[in-house]
Amino acid sequence: MTVEAQFEKLERPTVPELDAILGVPFKVLDDGFVRVIDYMGNDASIVQAARVSYGKGTKKIHQDRGLIRYLMRHRHTTPFEMCEIKLHVRVPMDTWRQWIRHRTANVNEYSTRYSIAIEAAYQTAPDQWRLQASGNRQGSAGFADEALGRRLSEREAVLHQLARDVYNERLEAGIAREQARKDLPLSTYTEAYWKIDLHNLLHFLELRMAENAQWEIRQYASIIGNEIVRRWCPLTWEAFLDYRLHAISFSRLELDIIQKLTVGQVNEAIASAIQSGLLPEDFQPGAELKRNREREELEQKLRQLGLPIPWEAAIKK
Ligand SMILES: Cc1cc2nc3c(=O)[nH]c(=O)nc-3n(C[C@H](O)[C@H](O)[C@H](O)COP(=O)(O)OP(=O)(O)OC[C@H]3O[C@@H](n4cnc5c(N)ncnc54)[C@H](O)[C@@H]3O)c2cc1C
Repeated sequence: MTVEAQFEKLERPTVPELDAILGVPFKVLDDGFVRVIDYMGNDASIVQAARVSYGKGTKKIHQDRGLIRYLMRHRHTTPFEMCEIKLHVRVPMDTWRQWIRHRTANVNEYSTRYSIAIEAAYQTAPDQWRLQASGNRQGSAGFADEALGRRLSEREAVLHQLARDVYNERLEAGIAREQARKDLPLSTYTEAYWKIDLHNLLHFLELRMAENAQWEIRQYASIIGNEIVRRWCPLTWEAFLDYRLHAISFSRLELDIIQKLTVGQVNEAIASAIQSGLLPEDFQPGAELKRNREREELEQKLRQLGLPIPWEAAIKK
């Protein structure tokens, strides 16, 4: 048999649903966007790569879903690296600063050394000023009232205009673009080409679609996930939602407490919490408790499961 005869004829994997939106911008925030420039692979490429590693040939399509779900459940991640996507994004610089921390992408960013900075800054609507959360130092909770929001948005507009005027004055005076830009606000939009494989993209989405991610980057991540990955690799997207984004994991300690609670061993559950440092050694029902992040995360999981929080009556915040 010739070498050629040993291999099946191949066609480039394509996804008509994604082809239909190639280059189309999805609007994000007031002037940002995400658009797909190019991609490689699809759900079938993941399956094909996995079957090569098992030394098995192509099987029926209906078995693909099961295999993809197995790979996702068991964090067998390399087959997902067979798919790649290239996006063109327009993002405020402060959001980009969070985005660029994801080191596993290939990036080319708009250069404000070379070109004049994009003349657009992310503006916050009067009803969108978020208040500092008291419980989470990195988070926000609730919104400023209407009058304060209006004043803040007016002041923001003045600041943006002043920063832009000063920047333009410097350029007109012949100052180099690389130096003239230094006082532009972080709300100034930047653009980039961002290429990443599906495994690392899912990692990005897991972190940046999560509730504790900043609202602005969450808007981008949601569009990439719900509008782009969902069309590109629907079986993978479904498995990701089921086993990663909307799944809960339990530590050994959490399982121990949950198992005790499900059989009504409330005092034993409290004893486990004391032993593991979630509750103080001198815990007394009704006494004021110091904050403990790990305990609060467990409480959140217990609420999701509809289980009682045995020490809750004792907590005063
Ligand atoms: C809610 C939230 C709050 C955050 N707060 C802060 C903060 O206060 N301060 C701050 O500095 N950052 C903060 N970050 C950024 C965070 O610490 C990570 O830098 C960012 O989320 C990128 O994650 P990553 O390194 O897993 O991703 P990637 O850089 O995409 O890497 C993906 C994976 O590849 C592997 N990898 C990549 N590079 C290396 C390497 N050099 N060595 C070994 N393994 C590697 C790791 O397994 C990594 O998880 C925050 C992130 C989130 C989501």
